[in-house]
Amino acid sequence: MKMEQNDLRSLKGVGPSLESKLNNLDIFKQTDLLFHLPSKYEDRTFITKIGALESDAEAQVEGEILISSMVFRGRRMLMVQISDGTGIMALRFFTFNKYQKDALKKGSILRCFGKTRKTTTGIEMIHPNYEILDPKKKRALPKTLTPVYPTTQGLSQGKLRSLISQALNNKLDNIEDLLPSKIASELNLGPLDDALIETHSPKKESLTINELSPAKKRLVTEELIANQIGMRKIKRASKKQSAIPLTQAEMKERLISKLPFKLTESQKKVSSQISYDMALNQPMMRLLQGDVGSGKTVVAGLAMATAVDSGFQSALMAPTELLAEQHKQNLDEWFGPLGVKTGLLKSKLKAREKRILKESILNGDCQIIIGTHALFQESIEYHNLALVIVDEQHRFGVEQRFSLINKAKRDGVVPHQLIMTATPIPRTLAMTAYGDLDNSIISELPGGRGEIATLCLSEDKRGEVVEKTLREIKKGRQVYWVCPLIEESEDHNRESAEATFKTLSENLKEHRIGLVHGKLSADKKNKAMSEFKKHKLDLLVATTVIEVGVDVPNASMMVIENTERLGLSQLHQLRGRIGRGEHESFCIMLYKNPLGQTAKERLKVIRSSRDGFLISEKDLELRGPGEILGIRQKGVVGLKIADISRDAYLIPKINKVCDQFESDFPEESEKLVKRWIGNQINYRNV
Ligand code: ADP
Ligand code: MG
Repeated sequence: MKMEQNDLRSLKGVGPSLESKLNNLDIFKQTDLLFHLPSKYEDRTFITKIGALESDAEAQVEGEILISSMVFRGRRMLMVQISDGTGIMALRFFTFNKYQKDALKKGSILRCFGKTRKTTTGIEMIHPNYEILDPKKKRALPKTLTPVYPTTQGLSQGKLRSLISQALNNKLDNIEDLLPSKIASELNLGPLDDALIETHSPKKESLTINELSPAKKRLVTEELIANQIGMRKIKRASKKQSAIPLTQAEMKERLISKLPFKLTESQKKVSSQISYDMALNQPMMRLLQGDVGSGKTVVAGLAMATAVDSGFQSALMAPTELLAEQHKQNLDEWFGPLGVKTGLLKSKLKAREKRILKESILNGDCQIIIGTHALFQESIEYHNLALVIVDEQHRFGVEQRFSLINKAKRDGVVPHQLIMTATPIPRTLAMTAYGDLDNSIISELPGGRGEIATLCLSEDKRGEVVEKTLREIKKGRQVYWVCPLIEESEDHNRESAEATFKTLSENLKEHRIGLVHGKLSADKKNKAMSEFKKHKLDLLVATTVIEVGVDVPNASMMVIENTERLGLSQLHQLRGRIGRGEHESFCIMLYKNPLGQTAKERLKVIRSSRDGFLISEKDLELRGPGEILGIRQKGVVGLKIADISRDAYLIPKINKVCDQFESDFPEESEKLVKRWIGNQINYRNV
């Protein structure tokens, strides 16, 4: 075999156009194909008789085409019916070319795989995968599960499968084993080639095994090591950049002395960690975790005071305009008396207002700038931005973080960065998703807060809950009523905010009720929120938009509908909206019967604990990392095969071996990062 057999072109059927599609998937060499791993598997090892098909299930069916016709039902489609003697199934295709249409003709034998759907007229599949069988030849069924790969437009699963299996044949024997044998044996890992074979064409049994097989563990471990080392590289690269040292502490002290409360010990501690970082001439890269209500905003304010005092600008980025506005109010209260000018960049500014604001940002008049993504997306030019604070980071994701840093960079100088999140992130997950950041934790809530009693009730108790609501309102308190849906929908299992608003308005006529959800215009949302905040409303019906950050100390009760549908961290966040004043508070979680086992377990956790870290550990266990980070796992961490909730236990061990691996085998560890992370994160350019 020649040396240069690793290029894609030497695979059968790969020309320039296919090659560029593969490049889109970060595949540049044959060996990259080996590490393009399936996102799921299909079981095509057996055929199901049409008569035995269930609805809403993936199945493989074989039959003869009885009818094939073009029909118009609002749009053009190809309608095919097949029979296998036990029943008839319809197949519908909305897009097809002439070749496909001709092949799907009466009398042909078809094998197809797809998701079934029951209709009024029978059972059907929409756009199944299919092949036409030659009646003279027997076509064997696969013995292993069929992998489904992440792909790109114009590149079919069939094509990818054939390329990957070619690459496995060509390259498997000389794939480089990058892990030192000492590490492999210490962590009890199977050989790499077995691992790849099993992953690309697993035996059926391996799907049912929940535990990691040694083969799979091999790949998972490689990927997690690559992730850890990649994160360390990013961290080191970021720390090599230069930043402006911010050291003035006088305004910070003045701000503290004017606060209507005393800082908690935790707030003091993290605030001094932050001051320490900001005084260096390399950028702070710090994650600040603090449970809802732990008082992160004031910590952010103190950091900004240091920047302002040193003569530099700060930007505070919030996930929604609502929160940006709330921050603006808070900061004006604190900074107004000190003569510091703040500015809020919001979408609704008039052209003139916007121009004036942009000018004052450019000339440095405005020292604290608050906004959403708009802070870095629009043509905003800063005078001398030296500190960026991102609130509720879990809504943003890693890529956005990097792009933000790049946009904020000027003349090779980057701003200090503080990333705040209210969702406590289990340590293992934090190491994977935020391994490039230093970590600060606010571990206590300010004192003087009332207790929150949490009750989980079946929704048929709603009447009593309404009465309880009334009593709270009569005491002068305010109530949130949270629904997972905005409008009535086909999903009759979920309460909608609009319907609930109507019913409650009828039931509680003499009280002031507001509605806020994500489909309202920003104006209407803000109006409802600010009226609630000013106690011009007694009851606020809302969707989960109020989940993040909103602060109304007089609200003492929250009703949450369809609790069984929401994640633990989300429930914890919602509940954190109440219990902010001195009053005793009630969180009533309504659920729809019957509850599954997991749902029961989850309610038990949320009822009995207010410890955000414990709750997020449980959530990670029960629902996976996407739930906690607020984004699907892949988007956040970029993992192909490791699953943080399943594999978390490996991370501390892996973390231990990484140091030595990197220092003793610099070349191999570099290659490993490239193998797994490739061009996903270009850490050299951070
Ligand atoms: P979060 O960490 O959820 O962003 P906030 O910063 O919104 O919390 O703070 C919640 C509430 O607690 C605010 O009303 C804030 O003024 C108040 N607060 C913050 N720190 C303290 C403290 N040390 N003592 C009393 N109240 C505090
Ligand atoms: Mg907050």
